[in-house]
Amino acid sequence: MELRKDPITMSWVIIEGPEENGITPDDCPLCPGNDSGLQSIYSSPYNHPNWQVRVVPHLHPVYRIEGDAMRCGEGLYDKMRNLGAHEIVVETPDHALPLSQQPPEKIAQVLQAYVSRIADLKKDRRFRYITVFRNQGQSAGQDLSHPHSEITATPFIPRRIGYELRSAQRYFDLKERCLICDIVKQEISQQVRTVDSTDQFVALCPFASRVPYETWVLPAYHHCHFEEDLTSPESQLRFARFLKTILQRLESVTPAYHLVLHSSPNTNAKFEQAGSWKTLSDDYHWHFEILPVIASKSKSYSLKEVYYNSLPPEDAAAELRSIAIPAAKISGAG
Ligand SMILES: [Zn+2]
Ligand SMILES: [Zn+2]
Ligand SMILES: [Zn+2]
Repeated sequence: MELRKDPITMSWVIIEGPEENGITPDDCPLCPGNDSGLQSIYSSPYNHPNWQVRVVPHLHPVYRIEGDAMRCGEGLYDKMRNLGAHEIVVETPDHALPLSQQPPEKIAQVLQAYVSRIADLKKDRRFRYITVFRNQGQSAGQDLSHPHSEITATPFIPRRIGYELRSAQRYFDLKERCLICDIVKQEISQQVRTVDSTDQFVALCPFASRVPYETWVLPAYHHCHFEEDLTSPESQLRFARFLKTILQRLESVTPAYHLVLHSSPNTNAKFEQAGSWKTLSDDYHWHFEILPVIASKSKSYSLKEVYYNSLPPEDAAAELRSIAIPAAKISGAG
């Protein structure tokens, strides 16, 4: 496996040889009892046989942690080794319990695992960015059926984050305001694309949604680093409660989605030019993006380069807002 840089768009592409495809064992490798061979990177409670959340190395990692990136040229092209970290966050010992059906206290423990792993991986100066994501449902590429998220650390900043960071910086240069704070303010005052909000958090279908029911979940206040913001059990629980109801709404329209955290890059990474993140803490704003995968709504002729979305976000938000969340599920155990 290696990483190649497209010299035109400057984005990195993972090139995998055909022999490296992962196999799915019959027995779930993440269930308690089958997982004793896996090294524990993190567990909650700490080092406890009856763990509730556990982080282990990915069984078929896209990235490998040893060594350095060995960047090299091939004529005008750039490539490097697949240096990085690839971890699995096992969200519950219960194979059949989806994240959205866990009580908020348990979802908060998953958030704490994200916080802890991001903070730890950012200490490694080889990594420019830490990505937290989860693929739910086979059509979203979920490879292991046990409820889990994934964390990767990479020596490059993923393309879409790069775009966001540049836009946020440019907007701040121009207006001395955070772009996402301004979006949140406008959406809350218009109430057209908002799905739900509290005094702390808001969920909305973005103005230029790429897919039907695309939903962002974000703090209504400003903060750029997820792992420095949601550090207290209280804040994790508040966000867990909110996220749970949004996932429940989305799951009533689609079983499959990608969820990805967008947060600040590693400002301590090697080779970062001093000053390039001068305004980062003022200009960037962490958020989760949820991209449902709806097979019946995806057009076969749609070009990958231009998103084709057949459902206006205003209609999507109205529909998601109108979904009744069962009271028992909202309260859960908290
Ligand atoms: Zn399992
Ligand atoms: Zn902001
Ligand atoms: Zn984003």
